Amino acid sequence: MTRKLAAGNWKMNGVKASLAEAKTLADMFPTPTIDILLCPPATLVTAMADVLTGTKVSVGGQDCHMNTSGAHTGDVSAQMLVDAGADYVILGHSERRADHGETDAIVAAKTVAALEAGLTAIVCVGETLAQREAGETLDVIRAQLAGSLPDGIDLSRLVVAYEPVWAIGTGKVPTLEQIGEVHDDMRATLTARFGGGADTVPLLYGGSVKPSNAAEIFATSNVDGALVGGASLKAADFSGIVSALQ
Ligand code: PEP
Repeated sequence: MTRKLAAGNWKMNGVKASLAEAKTLADMFPTPTIDILLCPPATLVTAMADVLTGTKVSVGGQDCHMNTSGAHTGDVSAQMLVDAGADYVILGHSERRADHGETDAIVAAKTVAALEAGLTAIVCVGETLAQREAGETLDVIRAQLAGSLPDGIDLSRLVVAYEPVWAIGTGKVPTLEQIGEVHDDMRATLTARFGGGADTVPLLYGGSVKPSNAAEIFATSNVDGALVGGASLKAADFSGIVSALQ
């Protein structure tokens, strides 16, 4: 059975006072039937993990370095995230790929580092609007999966997120047919490469998910949850998405 996951990506938002939202969310779901995750900025990982101790909401980082330590000013390692209380890390988000020049090879190296440290990796893929309009979507996603996922990966600690770049933070959402087409193709691509174990890898959709559109997205083929940006910042919004999934 594939786990269902509602994951929030706070991006570069949130200060200590924002942790009250995380606590409110956790209090709303004391016995969830799905996995719930919040990924705050690195400055808040430790404090959020403390606030959420004893609850059913997990904490994750938004990126990690491929090395365990060393001269990499401004970066955090996967081991540091674990030490801070994280169980997950988002890797290869399109904002990292665009803002920091992260290639598929870099994402694959980070994925290896994350799994070696004991984290579950949420590896993100997604096409640009130009690529979709050129009819290249499935080729782009297949190539990103091929390059971003290392051989021999522990599938039990892998999550894949399909996030069309043009849908992130824009209010634009692909049709349910478009989402289903990509998710079905991702499942087939993973199974062809890794075998039957790929059936249980959660496939998340991300891009302008809101309480109002979550249920129909979650009813779409091979959608096992969501990676949510803007609507994860407030418990009042994110709880609607969690409720739609469980
Ligand atoms: C994201 O950042 O992963 C994302 C999907 O953002 P939003 O939900 O705001 O579109």
